[in-house]
Amino acid sequence: MARDAGPKVLLIGGGIIGCSLARELAGAGCRVTLLERDRVGSEASSAAAGILCAQLDAESPSPLLELGMESFRLFADFAAGVWKESGIDPEMDPAGTLVLDLTREDEAASRRLLQWQQQAGLPVERLSAKEIAGVEAGLSDNILGGLFFPRSGRVNPVALTRALAVAARGRGAEIREGCPVVSLRESGDRVAGVVLAGGEVLEADLVVIASGAWSSALLGRVGVAVIPVRGQMLVFEARRRPRRHVLVTPRAYLVFRRDGTVLAGSTLERAGFQKAVTPKAVMKLTASALALDPTLEGADFAGSWSGLRPGTSDGLPLLGPVRPGLLAATGHYRNGILLAPVTAALLAEWILRGKTSHSLEPFSPHRQPSFPAAEEVS
Ligand SMILES: Cc1cc2nc3c(=O)[nH]c(=O)nc-3n(C[C@H](O)[C@H](O)[C@H](O)COP(=O)(O)OP(=O)(O)OC[C@H]3O[C@@H](n4cnc5c(N)ncnc54)[C@H](O)[C@@H]3O)c2cc1C
Repeated sequence: MARDAGPKVLLIGGGIIGCSLARELAGAGCRVTLLERDRVGSEASSAAAGILCAQLDAESPSPLLELGMESFRLFADFAAGVWKESGIDPEMDPAGTLVLDLTREDEAASRRLLQWQQQAGLPVERLSAKEIAGVEAGLSDNILGGLFFPRSGRVNPVALTRALAVAARGRGAEIREGCPVVSLRESGDRVAGVVLAGGEVLEADLVVIASGAWSSALLGRVGVAVIPVRGQMLVFEARRRPRRHVLVTPRAYLVFRRDGTVLAGSTLERAGFQKAVTPKAVMKLTASALALDPTLEGADFAGSWSGLRPGTSDGLPLLGPVRPGLLAATGHYRNGILLAPVTAALLAEWILRGKTSHSLEPFSPHRQPSFPAAEEVS
């Protein structure tokens, strides 16, 4: 499609999902305006650890697992393309993820995961304690063994979100920061634009809600609400070379950044829209991080933050049509960084061709959720 010949699309929200869509749609010839109430990447997308691993939480086959595997398949080219267009390196590293067993309960859980995932033909290997020491030296002496997920890795979500915004602008998208959307503009039975906080009205052929944890305020009546699920994160300054792999236990994960910082996360809490770092979480995450990697005992404490994941009651995102003129691209919960490439690709297919290569049915905003997900762990 010729540049600027496509539909006029308004995207609400400048997190990784909105920015990925802005780049994809602008590249496909749509006239795109992204509206962000604060700054691009100011919410969950900059709070994330950047783990790219669809298999970690997958206790059984699910449409989410398939979507995540597909998104990881797209990720290397996606990251390389965004880097080339923006000049910003998103630090994609596909070195893989280790799930480590420090207790018999951990071991039983990871063996259950191994069993069904291997039977399903998914890429996962069981490693002994000795094999783990061979790839990551100096970890806890209590490690009993673990799992290796080779088709996984990490990215720097702050850099990636910024890079996506630069790349989207480079493809012709307009990005307006400090621009809160207060309501949708209706015209007959369809959504025809948005109303901004100052009263300005913007018209469009399509409006996409990509407002993360705040999406329910604009979505109206759908089958599944988007709910904020708080995650707290600690940062250490390690005095050592970054480890190769993402390290995960049921109590904490560690992500090693190129600049020598180490992220230790995270909690899953229902605390409304209140962002806070609590003493209880600092104590628990620090203890779990040091129990896993005692070399961090010599690290400096370098900071902390919390962010609000866009959770849903069944753990699946909301992707696709809500009503005429309105689409949802939200509810990505713990996997929004991983799912950004596939979300952008599928929504662009739907907008441009009215059909998608991968069914959006399980992610319909109008589905009736059948099981609960986001439990509180801290
Ligand atoms: C601690 C933590 C760790 C995580 N770790 C990982 C991880 O390792 N891997 C992974 O894949 N995912 C991870 N996630 C999840 C991931 O961060 C999210 O799923 C993802 O960032 C969601 O992106 P988003 O663009 O939908 O939302 P956000 O990044 O929250 O963006 C939504 C944007 O919409 C804007 N907005 C809201 N309302 C309006 C309005 N009315 N008008 C205009 N703008 C509005 C907000 O200001 C915000 O910038 C983590 C999340 C947290 C909190």
